Amino acid sequence: MSGCLFCKIIKKEIPAEIVYEDKDAVAFLDIGPVGKGHTLVCPKVHSENILDIKDADLKKLIAVAQKVTKAVVKGMNAQGVNVSMNNNRAAGQLVFHTHFHIIPRFEHDGLQHWPHGKYAEGEAKAVAEKIKGNF
Ligand code: 5GP
Ligand code: ZN
Repeated sequence: MSGCLFCKIIKKEIPAEIVYEDKDAVAFLDIGPVGKGHTLVCPKVHSENILDIKDADLKKLIAVAQKVTKAVVKGMNAQGVNVSMNNNRAAGQLVFHTHFHIIPRFEHDGLQHWPHGKYAEGEAKAVAEKIKGNF
């Protein structure tokens, strides 16, 4: 899509440190890494995020993401890895071309996990119902 930053990287119109490419996807280093080796995995076909990507494109993407994750862990000698996705602005998405973040992790690397909340009595059931009604 014209104007999309990651489409431009995929078309090699702007440079990136590409670590893997095949017919369906490209993986390149994040320019502002959470940690060294932080890699982004993008489908070649443009979509905004998990909410609009086609099933078939997502299936191919997740397979590539697993392959890239294994290479990142091996290459960076990581002890763990976060595979995550920000979807829409409220969730922190800045670039609206679907991508997975592959973030190598190490014991005591200082990164914080999400804080955990609690449900009030009966609230979890009501919340679950809201979700169940949408399949
Ligand atoms: P989002 O918040 O959309 O999930 O993540 C977008 C990511 O893209 C950010 O982590 C940011 O550092 C990275 N990024 C933004 N612009 C560029 C760029 O021009 N090149 C590369 N390699 N990464 C970028
Ligand atoms: Zn795009």
